[in-house]
Amino acid sequence: MKSTGIVRKVDELGRIVLPMEIRKLMDIKVKDAIEIYTDEDKIVLAKYHPACVFCNDADDVIFFGGKRVCRSCISKLKDQF
Ligand SMILES: [Zn+2]
Repeated sequence: MKSTGIVRKVDELGRIVLPMEIRKLMDIKVKDAIEIYTDEDKIVLAKYHPACVFCNDADDVIFFGGKRVCRSCISKLKDQF
């Protein structure tokens, strides 16, 4: 993980502002969904990308083992074993 050197204070409602440079770098636009993860004592923010990790299809996706997988890929995986 790379430090940006940017420090922001949390406001009374628990909000922080994502710096413009970071939003530009990550192509985050107004109303984009951001997913919040935790990793021990860290909070990790990522653009919400609800697609299957294997085929990138966003239809019929379930959350399994911390990843998104579509039913079609689950079916293909089942056929392999
Ligand atoms: Zn898939």
